[in-house]
Amino acid sequence: MCDSKLCTHAQPVTRRRFLQSSAAFALAATASAGLGAMASVPVHAAGLPKPENAVSPDEAIQRLKEGNQRYVSGVMKRHDFSHERKALAGGQNPYAAILGCADSRVAPEYTFDSGRGDLFVTRVAGNFINADMLGSLEYAVAVLSVPAILVLGHEKCGAIAAAVKAITNHAQYPGHIETLVAALTPSVKQVSQQKTDLLEAAIEQNIRNNVTALSAQSDIIRKAHQAGSLRIVGGIYRLATGKVDFLA
Ligand SMILES: [Zn+2]
Repeated sequence: MCDSKLCTHAQPVTRRRFLQSSAAFALAATASAGLGAMASVPVHAAGLPKPENAVSPDEAIQRLKEGNQRYVSGVMKRHDFSHERKALAGGQNPYAAILGCADSRVAPEYTFDSGRGDLFVTRVAGNFINADMLGSLEYAVAVLSVPAILVLGHEKCGAIAAAVKAITNHAQYPGHIETLVAALTPSVKQVSQQKTDLLEAAIEQNIRNNVTALSAQSDIIRKAHQAGSLRIVGGIYRLATGKVDFLA
């Protein structure tokens, strides 16, 4: 229709893309001024890389549950990676953030039948927060406006089993593994009187403690939670079935 070098039709598109990429910085600036202000910023789903991800906190949790049901039943969606790649080149708007374990058997994108750009995933053996994890999740909340954080533990977690042995057998570990164990032992100690299955009790306690700690240790996360723009939940991944049991 027109010469590509002279065509001005491309200009509005370029400008829109610039504005989209600037949006994250604008949100970050607003966040630093207080999340109360950010909560009033309207979300224009049409301008987001994945408009379908602009959901409420309750809808985000429901979407995680429905995705997990598909994964459990083996009827997963077909993900159009080539289309997603193009849409995501200019930005991201995931519908949930995950604090999960590094365990190779627990892969969040599979577990919740989600594509790229859907989940903002932080993983460390034992799924607990430290300063770096907290900073990453604060970024997800303040800049990417994720409406939900899931602390995802799992059965037979090796990191928490190590912390259990540190307490019950005075086990010691080489290198930086000891640092992981030290971070997990408070949750084990809390349930150390458990007679039946100390490991299972510690896994659940660790999830609950980190759900609480996210708000307790982060002003950004606490304010978003209090404003109702963020839900924080915990869940346990069952290894044999793939089912995630969400904690009440
Ligand atoms: Zn684990």
